[in-house]
Amino acid sequence: MDKTQADIGVFGGSGFYKLFDKAEEHVIETPYGPPSDKVVIGTLGGKRVAFLPRHGSHHQIPPHQINYRANVWAMKSLGVQRIISPCAAGSLQTNVKPGEFVVCDQFVDRTSGRKDTFYDGPIATHVSSAEPYCPEMTKFAQIAGKQCGITVHPKGTVVVIQGPRFSSKSESKWFTSMGWEVINMTQYPEVHLVREQEMCVVNISLITDYDSGLVGDVEPVSHSEVIKVFEQNISKLQSMLVKLIEALPESRNGCGCASALAGARFT
Ligand SMILES: [Zn+2]
Repeated sequence: MDKTQADIGVFGGSGFYKLFDKAEEHVIETPYGPPSDKVVIGTLGGKRVAFLPRHGSHHQIPPHQINYRANVWAMKSLGVQRIISPCAAGSLQTNVKPGEFVVCDQFVDRTSGRKDTFYDGPIATHVSSAEPYCPEMTKFAQIAGKQCGITVHPKGTVVVIQGPRFSSKSESKWFTSMGWEVINMTQYPEVHLVREQEMCVVNISLITDYDSGLVGDVEPVSHSEVIKVFEQNISKLQSMLVKLIEALPESRNGCGCASALAGARFT
């Protein structure tokens, strides 16, 4: 087995900087500059898994400064075909409570100025975002959550804000009124870039708080609260990840992610 190859990639988010006890670290170079940190490769759930903390292992890179293209490219260069993209996130709806998980199936991009494509020309390439997340991985993630006894909302829309600030109350109320469930700062452009590389991606949002405009008598979201709730729930997330990785079939037959570029070009 080639020790610099992996089947599955995991991007660790806020509060999630380590996945393995025993693993090798690899420095990966990309045409887009350095990824957020070394990539750690080990075995989990019987599969080779590459782990990269998207904020860096000391949380030194804020969401709007992450080199998403380098991170995604690094995973692709290792042979990864499937990405698990967990994140800490806020709730925009009262029925989605802190400590619960959401497997999002849609995003709304409210970021600005991020490098969000691998295709800057000369060949114009328009990859569909209609269904940005992998249906097969999503199905397995929903099952894995249930098996772990976690309250998992099987679908949801994540609105991705630019950060690093949190939302104003008016912004938050607007997002709530649109019916969106989850708010975060990193899902975009990460998931779209994964799709542009014809890899599969699934989200697992760990809800850490109610966003600032949602519930009148709670404190507005703060970073310290996010980290506290995340730490209380990280063991649940890790057990769900193992179950999901174990359950994924060796080959990708239940989705069209591997041909995301088909029909995306004029030439
Ligand atoms: Zn897929």
